[in-house]
Amino acid sequence: MVLAQLGGSISRALQQMSNATIIDEKVLSDCLNEISRALLQADVQFEMVRDMQSNIERIVNFDDLADGHDKRRIIQQAIFNELCKMLDPGEPSFTPKKGKTSVIMFVGLQGSGKTTTCTKYAYYHQNKGWKPALVCADTFRAGAFDQLKQNATKAKIPFYGSYTESDPVKIAAEGVERFKNENCDLIIVDTSGSHKQEAALFEEMRQVSEATKPDLVIFVMDGSIGQAAFDQAQAFKQSVAVGAVIVTKMDGHAKGGGDLCAVAATKSPVIFIGTGEHMDEFEVFDVKPFVSRLLG
Ligand code: GDP
Repeated sequence: MVLAQLGGSISRALQQMSNATIIDEKVLSDCLNEISRALLQADVQFEMVRDMQSNIERIVNFDDLADGHDKRRIIQQAIFNELCKMLDPGEPSFTPKKGKTSVIMFVGLQGSGKTTTCTKYAYYHQNKGWKPALVCADTFRAGAFDQLKQNATKAKIPFYGSYTESDPVKIAAEGVERFKNENCDLIIVDTSGSHKQEAALFEEMRQVSEATKPDLVIFVMDGSIGQAAFDQAQAFKQSVAVGAVIVTKMDGHAKGGGDLCAVAATKSPVIFIGTGEHMDEFEVFDVKPFVSRLLG
């Protein structure tokens, strides 16, 4: 996994710093340059890397650190905190409550893993005693409804969609209405991920959102797209109120930078990651354990 390379490079830089006999500005600057290089190689945006570096340099001020201070530990802590900050916008996302109806709208480009992730999200909650339901509001891609239907049937989750209706807004509204009446507590709306024209896709997202009044909009992105995540996430954020991110394909060639960019663009936390094609290959994402693991 490429993400492991990022972790490996960062921990090597920290190790080199730790091995130095005297920790001075030069040692710190070498270490930060190494880490910055690793982050850039992992497709993290230049501005984010630059901010991280200058924040650490500000925190670890050698003039203020008396000899008695454990500089290694202070530097390590500062780096850990900055990496966490990059992945944590500080605002927790809306958390649905079991037994109380929540509408969750999923957005993302075609191929990002959106439909698979909708089912994983439903399945995860169903296993915890929730009553989820899936609505297929993707009328653009042929086969979208069949795919959702197949996944939903396999997981024994109720679903709603149409082979004939071409208006995604109508289907979304009808599906949400039906499952509200059936007392489902987690109504998940899957949406289109492509259109003849990009502007039409974003307008459609705005309309589906207006019709379904989601409690949370989740942006789904492929973990391997790197810096492109920033523009993609920002484009969705401009049309709907994205409140959380799910990064898929973290089992593949994800370099890690993409999620950092999406968090920065949407100012929303990553809440889950997809780690495979199967329904149960889905993990809750927690920043601190993730960064700890990254640093080995
Ligand atoms: P959508 O067009 O965004 O709805 O994407 P799909 O849900 O159809 O997924 C596109 C492809 O990515 C499918 O082949 C999925 O099986 C695959 N996929 C989705 N999530 C993951 C994941 O976490 N890991 C891997 N390896 N494949 C995934």
